[in-house]
Amino acid sequence: MKVGFVGLGRMGSHMARNLVEAGHEVTVYDVRTEAVEVLVELGASGATVAAGVAAGADFVFTSLPGPAEVAELWQGKGGLLAHLEPGAIGIDLSTVDADTSRSVEAEARSQGRRYMDSPVSGGVGGAEAGTLSLMVGGSEDDFEEAFPVLSAIGDPDKIYRCGDIGAGSVTKLVNNLIGMTTNVVIAEAFSMGVKAGVDAKTLFDVVMTSSGSSATLAQWGDSVLKRDFTPGFMLSLGHKDARLALEQATQLDIPMPVTSVGRERLAAALEEGWGEEAAAVVARLQEHDADVVIDGRAEKS
Ligand code: NAD
Repeated sequence: MKVGFVGLGRMGSHMARNLVEAGHEVTVYDVRTEAVEVLVELGASGATVAAGVAAGADFVFTSLPGPAEVAELWQGKGGLLAHLEPGAIGIDLSTVDADTSRSVEAEARSQGRRYMDSPVSGGVGGAEAGTLSLMVGGSEDDFEEAFPVLSAIGDPDKIYRCGDIGAGSVTKLVNNLIGMTTNVVIAEAFSMGVKAGVDAKTLFDVVMTSSGSSATLAQWGDSVLKRDFTPGFMLSLGHKDARLALEQATQLDIPMPVTSVGRERLAAALEEGWGEEAAAVVARLQEHDADVVIDGRAEKS
């Protein structure tokens, strides 16, 4: 298949590479030319503008920071939609709100084009290994057609059609609102546990094999516990996801008292200037307030 790919960041660079390695003919673009060069060395072709990836492509993917970039890249006069080949399918892998996905798809349909949302989960490790879960919103027919190419990015057993356009975005926001709020809850619980005298690594090992375990806590093993906040998944993206989820709740007139506090904590951490660190860095707020460090290293410095 001929595939276009825009957005070669922490996730997109691996996803594009996996498409190349699966034997697809891939053309890539990113505003960061160095990211394009890396993929070209791996066998992709490079485009000099975003729309350049769509020429001749059966599928065009984007993996971008958020709704503003997705709307800008797809919609409007010079957008990707206008450059999609007849019969091609546009697929956005970014985490955005359902309204953005539905708005792009409506414009696509008005031009006789096809478009799906397919946000992903599984982190940079999952992107690298090609084992992401994919949450797809689109028609059954488009989903079936895209499944083989999506299988180069995700684990075929974890590629879900969640419903029509926007359903993937909704599902992803549900997932990430849980993950982001969980970071805040773990920070409170662990600060209490450590200050009460139990070693952070002991808490981690026990909770990981007990009922308090979660995928979010598992990520703490490589971040908070090791005092290493290299992203992975940046706090700024986590805050964006919590914000989008709560905006969706507001639209639906649903009270979200607990996750609203979680989002406020993420916003406070952003204000500290930690936006480009791993999302679990939000724990440092609680460490400051509780006057304790959740340090799980055997030899603490
Ligand atoms: P990132 O910031 O590392 O990558 C975004 C890429 O988009 C960058 O390379 C940037 O240069 C490029 N870009 C931005 N604006 C552009 C434009 N106008 N034209 C072309 N390229 C442009 O982000 P990421 O961590 O790779 O995440 C990408 C998306 O996937 C986000 O929506 C994020 O929420 C989601 N996501 C991330 C993770 C993760 O663990 N990092 C996991 C699941 C989902």
